[in-house]
Amino acid sequence: MTAPSLERKALDMRRGACPALSAPMMTGDGLLARIALIDAISPGQLAELCRLAQRHGNGILDISARGNLQARGLTEISAPMLDTEVRALNLPLREGLAVEVPPFAGLDETEIVDPRPVAEAIRQAARGIEGLAPKMCLVVDGHGRLRLSHLLADIRLVAVRSGENICWKLMLGGPETTGKICGVFDDADAIATAISLLQKLAAMGNKARGSDLANGLPVNADAQPSISPFGLFALSNGFHAIGLGPAFGQAKAENLIALCYEAERLGIKSLKPALDHSLLFFGTHEACKALATFAGRAGFITSSADPRGHIAACPGSPACTSATIATHAIASEAAAECADLLDGSFKLHVTGCPKGCAHPEPSALTLCGTADGISLIGRGKAAKPPFASISFANTSASLRRIADLVRIERREGENSAACLARLGTDRLAAAVTSGRP
Ligand code: SF4
Repeated sequence: MTAPSLERKALDMRRGACPALSAPMMTGDGLLARIALIDAISPGQLAELCRLAQRHGNGILDISARGNLQARGLTEISAPMLDTEVRALNLPLREGLAVEVPPFAGLDETEIVDPRPVAEAIRQAARGIEGLAPKMCLVVDGHGRLRLSHLLADIRLVAVRSGENICWKLMLGGPETTGKICGVFDDADAIATAISLLQKLAAMGNKARGSDLANGLPVNADAQPSISPFGLFALSNGFHAIGLGPAFGQAKAENLIALCYEAERLGIKSLKPALDHSLLFFGTHEACKALATFAGRAGFITSSADPRGHIAACPGSPACTSATIATHAIASEAAAECADLLDGSFKLHVTGCPKGCAHPEPSALTLCGTADGISLIGRGKAAKPPFASISFANTSASLRRIADLVRIERREGENSAACLARLGTDRLAAAVTSGRP
């Protein structure tokens, strides 16, 4: 029997391209394929996906910041096999345009409205639209507890109350804090407007993004920050969810399989990969608590207080050929040494190169690998000019000096992000270079 093989030209190797299941992307450790789901799966199904990742790849799986599973270390021979065998599992795979809803949609008594019907209507109506940017993304957010406000979206619909009515605020580009407001619409008009905007973007070519239509529109002023998905949540109908996650979004298949077996043993029947590299397991209060205990012992993040959950680290070296540093090793050390700095008010960004895959937005503090060592960047994206450059060996000591400076200078009620911003990059640079906080 001849193994199916990908045409080389079918392998989408552009930086920034979307590594979908059928069009994997080349990385430092081989091809990477994305398995995007639009609904919950069972622990047994996740365990089966992990076994496929072991059989066809290197057994490493990512859970992306948007909650997609990614199998790593595939080859041109094995990637099509993974594609075929994943499809044979009959999972709720996303096909076509990404229209994302929060993971508790329909289960959250605090949400203004269940966003799934509007999201599904947009998915259906957008089927015939060709030529959109590969990473085009819509968010439909019912405004519950676990929101998608920090994720970038070309088009975002957020439920709002307008008197007795429930409407949708439609925004273009950015996370919710910087999205530009296009208008407030009822269900039908929100769907029609979203489709009309998609048609305009398609006509502008496959590089056009939502922000390209936002010129002159007002910036959204009342966005609320999203909360951490890690920890225990009470949902409607007596259901609970426990948010767990591998450190820095990457796990060995065998560890995830063990977690899935334990979830099954506890009677947990469904789970969703979700935002911020999390896995949300749904079950009884007792089962969720017991799974958290098991997961904590196995090294998973189980609480919003875990400093590792406040670090965004890309795969780094050796998984990515563009990386000059071992991001996960640096991030682990930062979490262990500087937990006081990592209070959840910002994501410490540890990136293997200035592309900044793990955190496309500005961060209060970024560590970026360079040919000579590490650049420190304040209040910006990874590609911004650094305020200091340090050697790899000095990373922990430099971070500790910044953490000590914040600890000494922090005003009452001030969080780390606000303190870092108030101190400014000159003070941070002085602390790093003088060797004193
Ligand atoms: S940011 Fe990290 S994962 Fe992305 S290209 Fe650079 S080194 Fe690779």
